[in-house]
Amino acid sequence: MVQPANVEEVARLVGWCAEQRVPLVPLGGNTGLTGGSVPDDSGKAVVLSLARMNRIRAIDPINNTLTAEAGVVLATAQSAADEAGRLFPLSLAAQGSCTIGGNLSTNAGGTGVLRYGNARELCLGLEVVTARGEVWHGLRGLRKDNTGYDLRDLFIGSEGTLGVITAATLKLFPKPAAQVTALAALSSPHAALKLLELAQSMLGPALTGFELMSQMCLSLVARHFDDCTAPFDAPHPWCVLLESSDSQSEAHATERFDALMEQAFESGLIADALIAQSIAQSRKFWALRENISEAQAAEGKNIKHDISVPISSIGDFVAATDAALARQFPGVRMVVFGHLGDGNLHYNVSPPLGMNEDTFLAMQDDINALVHDAVAANSGSISAEHGIGVLRRDEMLRYKSPVELALMRTIKNAFDPLGIMNPGKLIG
Ligand code: ZN
Repeated sequence: MVQPANVEEVARLVGWCAEQRVPLVPLGGNTGLTGGSVPDDSGKAVVLSLARMNRIRAIDPINNTLTAEAGVVLATAQSAADEAGRLFPLSLAAQGSCTIGGNLSTNAGGTGVLRYGNARELCLGLEVVTARGEVWHGLRGLRKDNTGYDLRDLFIGSEGTLGVITAATLKLFPKPAAQVTALAALSSPHAALKLLELAQSMLGPALTGFELMSQMCLSLVARHFDDCTAPFDAPHPWCVLLESSDSQSEAHATERFDALMEQAFESGLIADALIAQSIAQSRKFWALRENISEAQAAEGKNIKHDISVPISSIGDFVAATDAALARQFPGVRMVVFGHLGDGNLHYNVSPPLGMNEDTFLAMQDDINALVHDAVAANSGSISAEHGIGVLRRDEMLRYKSPVELALMRTIKNAFDPLGIMNPGKLIG
């Protein structure tokens, strides 16, 4: 593993790898979920850690931009924006250790996408070391730039297979005056979709979070975390966490949430609702959502899916796929949660109670095929925000058309003709 300190050192290293035909695996915060930054077993690859490139190079509050090196930890970028009186809205569970370079190379999503977009939509410009060891100085802070092919958007989401992102110019936003969180209990994802529509019409752009959780998720969190019980009097089949970011005040945000919940209750969309009365209570509500993955891991092995379908199809997708899994794999427990407002669910499957883990994992390919075929039938994606890496590579080949795959290979060969950039990942 090598840890260059600046872009010139990265360029010299990549140039040397190109000369020697040595494969290179770029590494950010090591929090990826699809193995994109893990070298193969050959022992021949150089792992290029960007950890030492961790400077915030500039903040321009008038242009609303922040320029950060690839190794800046996401939470550090958020704090730097905050100190400048601005918001950098990318937000995900790994933010304390994931890095800007990794966020961009995987086009990370998270809980703020509903209002602010994913990593791609938050990036205006890039500095990249090409597979030949040249530097592309593309750190433009422009909102408008129609000057041909968008190289920036090709590098974003390419998982280190086209070049090495060394710095980025990112979009900042006004800091909200208050953030208020609410929980709503309801009967089905269909009801949650209707609540989303109502919340968007009543709150407009102030609606910045809309996270769905099944009762199974909440019971796992209650079992494996202290002080993490859903605050409703009785369990409900589904629960939504809503977040409002208000430009006026906490009182104003709470007032608008009250009006929303009253109308949702009157229209029969929700069975119960709670609006957080303090920042501490808001944190407790968020903890229910953020602890799901860890609670599921504590419960044992599980099979994960990171899917998206058109938002309008989510209710039918969950109902039909739950039923098909229950028919073919009796007793499996669905742990379904995620970013309903983005059409993106973490549709995870835990083994039937008492089943041996190896027996369960032997069913993994069949369970993946059932879930992902249902995703494809709904014109969805088998990787909404985690990327392809090695984990989803073969499955991607199954679901993308030959035309799309051929165009992707053409791009790969044009950018990395020697095939040294993160081989074996994505399309390489
Ligand atoms: Zn997610």
